Amino acid sequence: MKEFCGIAGAVGKRGGDISELLYSLLFSLQHRGQESAGMVTLGSSGFKTHRDFGQVKEVFDPATLSTLRGHLGIGHTRYSTVGNSYSINNVQPLYVSSREGFMAVAHNGTLTNYKELRRELEEKGYVFHSSTDSEIFLYLFLISKGDSPEKKFSEIMSKVKGAYSLVFLVNDRLYFLRDPWGFRPLVFGENEDYFVVASESAALRQAGMTSFQELNPGSLGVFENNKLKIFNIVSSSKKEQCVFELIYFSRPDSVTFGENVYKFRRECGRRLGMLEKREIDIVVPVPDSGLPASIGYSVATGIPLEFGLMRSHFTGRSFIEPSEREKKVRMKLLPIREVIQGKRLALIDDSLVRGTTSKEIVKLLRENGAREVHLRFASPPIVAPCFFGIDIPTTEELMASSRTLKELVETLDADSVGYLPLRVLKDVLSVNSQNFCFSCFSGIYNPDTVPKYTMTKFQDYHPRILDEV
Ligand code: SF4
Repeated sequence: MKEFCGIAGAVGKRGGDISELLYSLLFSLQHRGQESAGMVTLGSSGFKTHRDFGQVKEVFDPATLSTLRGHLGIGHTRYSTVGNSYSINNVQPLYVSSREGFMAVAHNGTLTNYKELRRELEEKGYVFHSSTDSEIFLYLFLISKGDSPEKKFSEIMSKVKGAYSLVFLVNDRLYFLRDPWGFRPLVFGENEDYFVVASESAALRQAGMTSFQELNPGSLGVFENNKLKIFNIVSSSKKEQCVFELIYFSRPDSVTFGENVYKFRRECGRRLGMLEKREIDIVVPVPDSGLPASIGYSVATGIPLEFGLMRSHFTGRSFIEPSEREKKVRMKLLPIREVIQGKRLALIDDSLVRGTTSKEIVKLLRENGAREVHLRFASPPIVAPCFFGIDIPTTEELMASSRTLKELVETLDADSVGYLPLRVLKDVLSVNSQNFCFSCFSGIYNPDTVPKYTMTKFQDYHPRILDEV
């Protein structure tokens, strides 16, 4: 499974340059999207923009950054969920010069009714330059009859369904907003010199902000004339914060939806360990995502944690095609034969999606002498697609969508397979669990967030809750 997008915005309160700060924020959000990156900044000579394919350090060299000097800006790191990844027109931030002045937007999430909104806008004569869902925000702002930007955003939020956290420039003002369900995170903070907003708190901390706050779902923030104003625009009776942000996407050093991500993962691992019934010699994490859960699992079971698999940090992204899964796993994961030989392993990973990587890892461990491999996932198996900005494949490609536990053991060639039941995951979140989306684990969607035409593709899908270990 791939990551999706990271967004950031910054204002120099005393007119200080934000280009390097924005670079640092995007660099900290690199894990959320590695296909392309971009920035739009406003300086004394007007708006500047630079967008290109590649990682942040490839897109912005010092010479490029020096052309982006300014006191206000937004940026984006992209992994495409809507719109192809090969057109420069799809690289964000997207921008337009209009009767409202200069506007630019960077978006994290996926809209579920963007096709019908785009059709309406095209019928009104708007010409789209990208094939992303994000561009509609610019034109919805332009057609809005609201007599202030706040009213325009309020109108936009009442029309758009699905997941969106946005940073939005309108001339010299920075706006930022989060959908009423709160699917994607968005945090803001400031120090004496800068105001900053970003997808994750880890980016703010790395940029030197000592305190930060999450923007509430359905809210709009604006930083204008060195003052922050927050408007609560739309309230939804049911929040749908993406639990996968905590399981996999967010950085372990982030606080997302009020939870420290590392501690959350470690607790999921501990609860998984409490369910263990097998005789196991060592706990081996799948690096790096399975590490916090392995620590919790090891603490709960008393079984020693060993790094039986190391991760190579030198494998390039474009060097190997995703279809060459086996080659990719073998380039990336390095088994330590002397640690695993003759041992019964609990192999801990964060989640089960396609299962193809897990299968390759089991094979690799057996080839290197593991006596038994017991696969353990620190979340429930994914059985249904996501419409909200995560690249989860179709139901057919999801390993657990149509297999019993016994069939999973056979397909993955493991000695046993276990995972965290949904009820335990909800228990870890405690009362806060009612504010989360679990749709990819249950196949049950909040009808307010997904229009009927999106659902019809999956009408023959019968949700089932897998609640066994
Ligand atoms: S369906 Fe799954 S991945 Fe998508 S928003 Fe909900 S919890 Fe997150």
